[in-house]
Parts: sequence; structure tokens; C-alpha cells
Amino acid sequence: MGGRFSQLTAPGVQGLKPYQPGKPIAELEREYGVRDIVKLASNENPFGPSPCAQQRIVAGVADLARYPDANGFELKRALADRHGVAPECITLGNGSNDVLVLLAQAFLGPGIEAVYSRYAFAVYPIAVQAAGAVHRVAEARPADDEVAPYGHDLDAMGALVGEKTRLVFIANPNNPTGTWLPGEAVREFIEAVPRDTLVVLDQAYLDYVRDPAYANAAEWLERYPNLVVTQTFSKAYGLAGLRVGYSLSHPEVAEVLNRLRQPFNVNSLALEAAEAALGDPGHVEHCVQVNNAERARVAAACARQGMSVVPSACNFVLVDTGRDAAGLYEALLQEGVIVRPVGNYGLPRHLRISIGTPRENDRFIVALETVAAGE
Ligand code: PMP
Repeated sequence: MGGRFSQLTAPGVQGLKPYQPGKPIAELEREYGVRDIVKLASNENPFGPSPCAQQRIVAGVADLARYPDANGFELKRALADRHGVAPECITLGNGSNDVLVLLAQAFLGPGIEAVYSRYAFAVYPIAVQAAGAVHRVAEARPADDEVAPYGHDLDAMGALVGEKTRLVFIANPNNPTGTWLPGEAVREFIEAVPRDTLVVLDQAYLDYVRDPAYANAAEWLERYPNLVVTQTFSKAYGLAGLRVGYSLSHPEVAEVLNRLRQPFNVNSLALEAAEAALGDPGHVEHCVQVNNAERARVAAACARQGMSVVPSACNFVLVDTGRDAAGLYEALLQEGVIVRPVGNYGLPRHLRISIGTPRENDRFIVALETVAAGE
């Protein structure tokens, strides 16, 4: 009987491998018996959400017997204000992940192609595969590239766009590399793509980027009806646990996604918290400033151990450990520090380290030095 159900699945599902999340703290506690664990593995905001959002979550508990507002009216209105778009352009999702999958469900299928970069965010291949569509994977920039090693090569991606391409996924910045693209280069790419190809520009880490050449692509929506921008409350807004993200697109694309999405795909606490979080930009700014200073400190500690650090605009860094990284990953676990191996991305020598609070980063740095001293 073994394997029978697996063979009964839809064609795309047969070759599907599940997303690999960071190791949960409780799992490490159970397996290794270590305490006071520091998790730097899932690119969360270690400071959590704004106090305003926390208050709204507590207040929202009183209404949990009710279904959420299926249209997310208030949150959409706040997002429309923030980005200067009409509410009809917004699709809310259970995390931006939800919207990425909806886009693939809506626009892909057997014989239809999707383009993305090597080392791009792992959800793109999963969504393309689940839809039974054709993967067109562009080579990334080389490992010794001075600006963005392993980053997206827009020329290589553009060369793969053809008549059958319905979606192009661009992560800007990208996870797990942390690399980013200047706004103008992305805009030129969108300009050159056929109008029947949707460009999905994933800006999950947008708030962390301080390069003046970077751009919030929401501003281009009027100009490019085939542009879909995704953003999230999971990163700088510190609401990963509540699951809320969104896309900004042409209203017709939003209408298509609305046909497919679950009626109540964003829960009521998430709707409340996200709206309140938008009202406290000072909290996000503070978190980003601490993150960016701490990122430099973590990167310097890795460099002191002879690792090469990929330049990052995010709340994590990708480092080349110079050898198979599995041993170092395990040794850090023994020290109670969880980072993220990225062998599943085809980067077996690398580790991805999320930036924590200053104290958590101290723990990582000490653990790294302890492991190195013991070698
Ligand atoms: N895009 C990128 C590039 C990400 O790294 C992530 C989270 N790891 C997401 C999208 C999805 O995040 P969420 O579903 O929490 O919005």
C-alpha cells in the first residue's frame, strides 16, 4: 500500500518538497536538553510588534467569537493611505506567503512558465511546482560578484521570459542572500517585460533597506498594470506569528485573487494589530536602526572567524563558512544558538544568521568564538 496516496496527487504535488522552517526552540530543548536558547533562524523582529499593536490584540480577544471582516476594510484603508493606492488594489493574505501562492494558483498551470532566480526565496519553487507549472530558473550573480554575490541577475532573468511566461518572481531584497537591487534596474526590467507577464516583486524586507537607490515599487503601480508588489507585517513590523501580508496590484488582478482566497484568510487579531502597527512608524524605525547596527556587529564577528559575509540589506546575513556548514550548525546548537542551514538552497557551505536583540547577538558571537576555539 505504501506510496499509493502520494501517486494519486495532482501532477505538481508529486515532485513537491515541503518548506523547511527554522528549528523551533522547544524542539532543541527536547532534543539536546539545553536551556536559554537563542533562535536566529527565521528572520523575525526580535523586538516584536509596536505596543499599540499589542494593545489592540488584547482588546480584540473580546471579539474572537465573531468571524473577522472578510474584506479587511479598515486595514485596506490604512494600507491604501500608506501607499497612495486605491483599496481595490489590495489583496490581504495569511502572510505574504498566502498571496504568493494565490498568484501561482491563479496564473500558472501545466505548460505555463514562471521565472525566478537561483537562490531566490524557497516559496517560489514550491508555489510553481504545486501549480504544475514549468520552472525557468535564472543563474544568479557569481559568488565573487562585488556588489551582490548570489543575488538576482536581471539580465539572466529577462532572457528566460518568453511567450509562455505568466509570472516572474523577484525578491527585493532576497532571502536567503540578503542582496538587493536598485529601484531603477527593477523598473527597467518591468518596463521591458511583455504586458501579459506579471512581475511579482516581493518586498518583504523593504523597511530594512537604507540604500537611497532602493525604491518602494508601490509607486509604480499606476504605470505598470502587470506589476504585483507583495509586502508583509512579519518582518520589521514584528507580527510574524499573526500571519498578515498583502499584495498591491491592478484591481483586476486583485479581483482574480479574491475569487481564490479563503473568505476569512486573515484573522481578526491580525487585522487589528496590522492596522495599529501602521500607526506607529517610530517603532519600526527604531527596530530597523538597531537591526542595521547589530547586523554590522554580527557580520564583523563572522568575518573575524575568516568567513565571507554577503552584503545584506535585511535582518539577517548569509555567510560562507568556507567548508560544509553542517558541523558548525550542530556545534552552535550545542551552545543553544539556532541559526539556519541553507543546504536546501544549494548553499551547503553557508549559514544564514538572523539578527536578534543585542543580547541575543552577543550569545551568538560568544558561541561562535567558543566553537572556533574548540576546533
Ligand atoms: N518573501 C520573502 C523574501 C521572505 O523571506 C518571506 C518569509 N520568510 C516571505 C516572503 C513570507 O513571509 P510572510 O508569509 O510571513 O509574509
